Amino acid sequence: MRKLSLLVLLASGLSAAPVELKSIFSGRSGAALLFDLKENTLISTWNDRRAKTTVLQPGSVLKPFTLAAYIEAGLYKKSLKAPEALAYSSNEYFEKLAARMEPADLERGYARFGLNYRAPTLTLAALLEATKRLVARHHEERLRPVFEGLEEAVSYGTARLAGIPLTRVAGKTGTTSSSALFFGYAPADKPRYLLLIHLDSGSGGGDAAPFAAKIFAKLFKTASSEFDSQSISVRLFWQNPPASLNLKPGKYPAGTRIEANTSQLNAPGPLTVELKNNAYLLTTQVPLENYVSAVLHGEAGGFVHQESRKAMAIAARTYAVRFRSRHSEEGFDFCDTTHCQDARFLLNERKELRDAVEATSAELLWHQGKPAATYYHADSGGWLEAASDAPYLSQRKDNWWQDSPESRWTWTVKLTELAQALNLTLITRNFRVSSREVSGRARGLDVFGHPAEAAAFRMLVGRTLGWDKMPSRMFEVTRSGQQLVFLGKGKGHGIGLPQSSAERMAASGKTHSEILSEYFPGTKIGITASGLSWSSVRSTRISLFTTNAAKDKALLALAEKELLVLEGLTRLKVDPSIRIYPSREAFRDVTGILDPVHGATRGRQIQLPPNPAIATLRHEMLHAILESNTNATHPDWFREGLVQALLNEKSVAGTRVAALIQRDGKAKILAVWAGSESMPW
Ligand SMILES: [Zn+2]
Ligand SMILES: [Zn+2]
Repeated sequence: MRKLSLLVLLASGLSAAPVELKSIFSGRSGAALLFDLKENTLISTWNDRRAKTTVLQPGSVLKPFTLAAYIEAGLYKKSLKAPEALAYSSNEYFEKLAARMEPADLERGYARFGLNYRAPTLTLAALLEATKRLVARHHEERLRPVFEGLEEAVSYGTARLAGIPLTRVAGKTGTTSSSALFFGYAPADKPRYLLLIHLDSGSGGGDAAPFAAKIFAKLFKTASSEFDSQSISVRLFWQNPPASLNLKPGKYPAGTRIEANTSQLNAPGPLTVELKNNAYLLTTQVPLENYVSAVLHGEAGGFVHQESRKAMAIAARTYAVRFRSRHSEEGFDFCDTTHCQDARFLLNERKELRDAVEATSAELLWHQGKPAATYYHADSGGWLEAASDAPYLSQRKDNWWQDSPESRWTWTVKLTELAQALNLTLITRNFRVSSREVSGRARGLDVFGHPAEAAAFRMLVGRTLGWDKMPSRMFEVTRSGQQLVFLGKGKGHGIGLPQSSAERMAASGKTHSEILSEYFPGTKIGITASGLSWSSVRSTRISLFTTNAAKDKALLALAEKELLVLEGLTRLKVDPSIRIYPSREAFRDVTGILDPVHGATRGRQIQLPPNPAIATLRHEMLHAILESNTNATHPDWFREGLVQALLNEKSVAGTRVAALIQRDGKAKILAVWAGSESMPW
């Protein structure tokens, strides 16, 4: 038993998986050191002789030590935005900081880490010793600004390309005329690995940092990606954990194909596989909008009207936000069954369902500043049930219900079969509804002489004999010889939105907001609690979604002009869809992007913070054009760098791609982008 758990531990990537630095850096010149802080040992090196002998200009990688010296000299005030300055590696800021200190303070501060302020050149091996001393103090409260800055450098600053999903990385880059440097550690909150990289050419942020991401990703077995976002964790196969699976325990990147229990799924976010008691536990971390889409595939696959699909998308999203911690004790947010919401992460999403998710992107149903309790069920049977947690969920007639064969059900079962399944003795042969709700739903039952609550009885029948047997508590029961015959109406608990009635409303021309206010009266749709909602404006080529059409309309004409220029530049085409969020908070909640200067683009869908600069719009539209015109998977530096190079933006990745364009020509690099030619590097 002990042996097995050790194997699992090894397979799940918690142990020091060997990483061969040599092979990772093959073809480059420089040196690198990977140190295990827990084992206090160097676990891999690349050119360790050079690491000990080549003397480097450390440049910006010393900024954290300058900040630490400043704090230890007692000069630091909270109001100073040091973490941000460190994240962006602001020269101006650190020059001012150094100027405010006595040289003796700086010397003493540097000496604490074994550094010489007067002669700051050093070898990579010496830098390792200094960073070891620094990271060893990461728990010290007063040095917090230093470590925050190092974390922020990776989350949005100059070391951004060192980031990986699931594990937080902290680090600092440095670029001088003769070298590119990076030092960093992970996990940021509990440092285990310390990595130092020196490259003879290139830049710290554009060259060394992506190597760091590759190495950390290997250590923690995840895929590196800059497109990470706010996410919900979902346990897959919650009811039936698979006994066989196409994956070993470990961590996998977004897009991993899962084959288990005779079904095939796609994990739209990072996936963790664990093995417990001979069954696989699969948890995927998915962006909210992907979760909503999966729920529509599970819960509204049979819908035929777009307005009712949209109503369901908002109900499912609001439910997800409101009830997020349902399974927190088990270590995830939601299971993938109707216990929470039936979520199906299919290999191919249906366009009409995805459209309903996108048309309502980020919209929730609000009640008095709080996301509403948006319960839903299949069919009300004519009467809605109350729920104690919300005044808008009251017991009343469902005005849109219609009697139809679909809303009726029958179940015939032998007395003995039922008694045996429920493990009950037959005190009598009676089965009787002893009390009912106003709606007509059974409340109390007499089951063969045993008193029972109807709701609990229905759950027990569902679990033992199948969920299709007793779809609701709204039934009459009669005995016919040795059998019981249940004649029922409605499907589900009857609380909130009845799906069959929503479809009927949509069929008669009602909108999704009319459907939602019929079943959740007093609530309103909004992106924020103040009730802003999307309206769309269109030009020939562009659809623009905004909460302030009057203000953002002007942007549309401008965007259309820019689009033509960009298409001329690339000879590629796309009709973009642009969404402008009403606040930075709303933008951040949906996209997970903390840096409000940037937008987020997936395919032709562009998401922007409020009041976007025209340069941001241009940048994201070029992403949309490029992302919609390739089948190849490109590394992040190329995706970002190509946009920046084509727009002459000054950046590390941009400079790198610009050099490639200069060498091989734009046509060649665009052909590589499209996937029709292989990479020349
Ligand atoms: Zn659940
Ligand atoms: Zn970009």
